[in-house]
Parts: sequence; structure tokens; C-alpha cells
Amino acid sequence: MQNIVDQIYREMAARNDRGKVAGYIPQLACVDPNEFGISLIMQDGTKYSAGCANTLFSIQSISKVFTLTIALGKLGDEIWTRVGREPSGDPFNSIVQLEHEAGRPRNPFINAGAIVIADAIMMGNEPKEALAEILQFIRFVADDDTIGIDEKVVKSELLNGSRNASLANFMASFDRLRNPVDKVLGTYFHHCSISMSCEQLAKAGSFLVSNGVNYSTGIQVVPEHRARRINSLMLMCGHYDGSGEFAFRVGLPGKSGVGGGILAIAPGKASIAVWSPGLDSIGNSKLGTEALEMLVQRTGWSIFGH
Ligand code: GLN
Repeated sequence: MQNIVDQIYREMAARNDRGKVAGYIPQLACVDPNEFGISLIMQDGTKYSAGCANTLFSIQSISKVFTLTIALGKLGDEIWTRVGREPSGDPFNSIVQLEHEAGRPRNPFINAGAIVIADAIMMGNEPKEALAEILQFIRFVADDDTIGIDEKVVKSELLNGSRNASLANFMASFDRLRNPVDKVLGTYFHHCSISMSCEQLAKAGSFLVSNGVNYSTGIQVVPEHRARRINSLMLMCGHYDGSGEFAFRVGLPGKSGVGGGILAIAPGKASIAVWSPGLDSIGNSKLGTEALEMLVQRTGWSIFGH
């Protein structure tokens, strides 16, 4: 396995066409597109890494896997009255479906859906309290208390957040939010600005590999059926309008972020985090996807077989 990971790293290091770093959040545009990291944690806890697997990067929308998990824990299936579970087929920050569908976002992973999830987690509390809860959960599943928020990224998102503010206000016009828009956006921008390394992220995702159980502690983080459902949402919606392409090429539940990270789950096998800041035209990590494609070709881990 270490050979496979090293080989993927070497092949990726040699690539010239690395995609484009996210430009609309200036703080993310400063990141070196030549960085690449991969980390893989097997179900038994064995770890294989290569490249900058310990470098912190902005997890961005990957945080939405964790906020969804928290929201399901707090509200259970009631959350589905507020957000759907269908692929959107539209870009992550699109507003068009919201008008036709009365302000109910298609799924929890597009921006509008994640904003509703942030609102649901708040339950009338201040953003600070909601964020403490989100950070506590991520630190717990990653078994790492050092994980924190990059305030520079938060500021950058706030200063360039007109689109997200539009989505939130538009949903508020349908009476879909229970907390003030600026507070919900504050919670949302902060959880998107959490920094993690590939190793931390792979560890944090590992409860989704083994039916909801954290391999190192043996603690059931979520019930088995919930882990299965989160994985299915990641497969269908985790890469926005590129989810079909990702399923075709990689065939694993996965969640991308505009920081260039991807968390992918090979159920019963491993949790994998890759990071390469250059994105494709949809906003998913270009080399991250290629690395995962290579990994499943070599391991046969696609949930659809070899
Ligand atoms: N914080 C980013 C945004 O709201 C998250 C988008 C993403 O990672 N796809 O635009």
C-alpha cells in the first residue's frame, strides 16, 4: 500500500496541468498549486501517507460532511423537511433551483443546503456556541485537539461573500432560516475555514468506513444506518454537478472543497484524504480526483467493483 501511495505522489508531482486555485476567496488564491498530499487510514488504523500529508489546508466544503452529521444527531430525520437529498446538477453556489423549489435546497452539500444545516445546528444559539460544538466534534472524530479555524480565510470569505449572502437572504425570504442571516453566515464561513491536514482529515472520516464506529476508540460515533446514508449522499452530491463524473471515475463516496481537498470513503476498507489546491472548472480538486482514480484502479476499491 505504501508503494501505491508513493507512486501516486510521484506521478502527481510530475503533472504540469494542475488546475486553477480558487480565485474568488483571495486567501485561498495565495496557496501554492504545486502542493500535494495524500493520506489513507485503513479500517484497522494503519496509516499510509505521501507528500505534504501534514500540511494544513482549508477544508472548505468538506466541513459539510461533519455539520450534516451533527445536524442529524441533533434533529434526526426532521432535517429532511428543510433540505433535500437529491443531486442538484448545478454549481455549488447556484441560486436558480431555490426559487422553483420554494427555498428548500436540493441537498446538504451545496452552499444553500449547508447554510440551512448551519442554521439548524445553531438552534437559537450564538455562532460561537455552534462553532464550539462543530470544532469539538471534528476534534473528537480526528482524535486531535489542535484542529482550529483560520481567521484569515474567514475574513476573506466574509469580504467576498455576496453570493452566499444572497443565497441565505433568498432562503430567509421563504422563511427557511430560524436565526438572523448574518449569524448563520458567520457560522457557515467559520466552519468552512477550518484547517486540517490530510492525515487529520483521513482520521476524521474513518467513522464512515466502519459502519459508524471509530476504529481507534471503538466508539459508535453514529448509528450504522446513518453512516450508510451519509456515504450515499457523499456519492450522489459530494462533488456538486461533478458528482456523476466522480462516481464514474472513482466510484467512492467523496466530498470536495474549494481548498483543493477531497475526503473519500472506501467502505470497509479505508478513509482517504487528498489535497491538491488546483481545481477543475467545477471547483473540485483536479489532481485530487486523478489521484483517487489511480488509487481505485490499483486497489479495486470502487464500490462498483474492479
Ligand atoms: N466556503 C466556500 C463557499 O461558500 C465553500 C465552497 C466549496 O468548498 N465548494 O463558497
